[in-house]
Amino acid sequence: MEYNNLGKSGLQISRLSLGSWLTFGKQIGDDVAERLMDIAYENGINFFDNAEIYARGKSEEVMGAILKKKNWSRDSYIVSSKVFFGNGGQLPTQKGLSRKHIFEACEQALKRFQLDYLDLFLCHRPDKQTPIEETVWSMHQLIMQGKILYWGTSEWSAQEIMEAHMFAKQNHLIGPIVEQPEYNMFTRQKVEVEFSQIYKTVGLGTTIWSPLASGILSGKYNHEFPSDTRLGMEGLDWLKEKNFTVERIDVVKKLSALAADLNMSLPVLGLAWCLKNPNVSTVILGASKEHQLKENLTSLEAKEKLTPEIMDQIEGILSNKPVHPDH
Ligand code: NDP
Repeated sequence: MEYNNLGKSGLQISRLSLGSWLTFGKQIGDDVAERLMDIAYENGINFFDNAEIYARGKSEEVMGAILKKKNWSRDSYIVSSKVFFGNGGQLPTQKGLSRKHIFEACEQALKRFQLDYLDLFLCHRPDKQTPIEETVWSMHQLIMQGKILYWGTSEWSAQEIMEAHMFAKQNHLIGPIVEQPEYNMFTRQKVEVEFSQIYKTVGLGTTIWSPLASGILSGKYNHEFPSDTRLGMEGLDWLKEKNFTVERIDVVKKLSALAADLNMSLPVLGLAWCLKNPNVSTVILGASKEHQLKENLTSLEAKEKLTPEIMDQIEGILSNKPVHPDH
């Protein structure tokens, strides 16, 4: 495994990590979740990603029970939760980034995880109804109370992240260290263009999500629609519509041929491509089966095969390189 600092913080995070969205407490049994965490940990993964909304809190309960059972030293792993969507409650105070919901979401996540503190607490989306000052103060106070160690954002714009930083700086508060954006061969704008300045100015780290675009980039949807996969799950039509398009499948077929030439599987190529970006602190892997995780773990080694010439070939197939406004 390789490790690097999460942004300009001192936190050493593994370049591959494991997430639990749609899997833990939902698509997979707790025994499979335990095997996935075992495989991850044995292979040096030190970051496990979670959120209050995942399986409406159940994902954190399942992960917490596994952590307790494993009894791994608390100083050997990083665990996150995210606040914003709530865990199922529909009342106005049960969501968002108000001081009230941030404090309560943190307490509830700690109970579900059976932990004393969270390493990372992320604001899962921006909250247009709460002043940014209130959110920054609340996160700072949770750090002062020892309930969280670092905080960050997910799917915030560069401008929103900068506003939080500027307020924190002016008031000697602790600002966000990390953003969690979607990043894969199809979704590139934020990571490659929008954040390009703030990697340098504020030292932003990134924990990127859906590196395989929910499995489309595994190539398994190329010829027929397989059963027992995420995009066939009930209630996820929106995700299928987003990812399972003629244009995407066409690109994935071309990438499959390139991956075969390189003697690597397509998901490994897709993940290795994400890892090549030095602004990606960690690629959060999703897996519903043990063999997927084992395969995906080989992407670190595989990235060495992605020479500048191969990266150019990939660029030619993707034809979606985001343009920087200054260029
Ligand atoms: P991916 O895009 O990598 O999708 C993972 C899914 O793809 C797996 O569950 C599996 O689904 C399929 N898959 C993975 N590897 C393989 C393989 N080798 N062969 C075939 N199929 C494979 O990542 P996720 O979308 O799961 O995102 C990763 C993590 O990021 C999440 O768990 C979560 O922690 C975080 N996240 C954060 C968000 C945010 O807003 N901050 C939003 C979304 C995710 P199946 O077998 O069912 O087809």
